[in-house]
Amino acid sequence: MRPVLVLSAVFVGALLALPASAAKEPVVVIDPGHDLRANAATEPIGPGATTRKISDGGGTRGVITGLAEAELNLRVALRLRPLLEAAGIRVVMTRTKTAHKSIGNVARARIANEAGAALFLRIHADGSTDPSARGTHTLYPARRRGWTDDVYVASRRAARIVQAELVGALAFPDRGLQERADFTGFNWSDVPVILVEMGFMTNPKEDRLLGTVAYQRRVARGLCRGALRTLRRSTTACS
Ligand SMILES: [Zn+2]
Repeated sequence: MRPVLVLSAVFVGALLALPASAAKEPVVVIDPGHDLRANAATEPIGPGATTRKISDGGGTRGVITGLAEAELNLRVALRLRPLLEAAGIRVVMTRTKTAHKSIGNVARARIANEAGAALFLRIHADGSTDPSARGTHTLYPARRRGWTDDVYVASRRAARIVQAELVGALAFPDRGLQERADFTGFNWSDVPVILVEMGFMTNPKEDRLLGTVAYQRRVARGLCRGALRTLRRSTTACS
């Protein structure tokens, strides 16, 4: 019996040594919107489309904090990552610094597709010329055959769940859900995808709050709960 025991021990050891990528962990791709610099090049809004849009307009900026949206998005993403990892999720980030020209939205979708993401979670904050505009909303792809029909239902479900958790975590006004047919990053996605607009950086109150670590933690907790509920997993690691 002894050789069998030794073999078993070796086999178990080999299993434990498997890299995380070989395990059956679901993958969440976190996409902190924008980057240090905009990208004025255009890209087709979907596979084979003749309509093209700017790759990345650069995002908004805090009216009180002066914080760039790209940096707020990243701070939240970096707080969310360890929460999801603690729940056994493999996290892939589209970027981990705010230091470059934006790679654009086709490239972001390709990262999610190649990772085989169970959820492609895009983190943004809103801007408006009306400083009274405020609140949280979540966007998901409109159904279009050949582009988003395969991810439409799962994306809409994820949007509903994440929006509810985010509103619960932030207590900003609930602006609800919005379907978008014109988002390049949606149309190129072959995996369930949503984009959260946490709040308005052009609203003094929301900008001031989102600039605090306490509120960035709240957003991360809400996104963690929303992502894990979407994946039908326990949310105990989020708090
Ligand atoms: Zn944005």
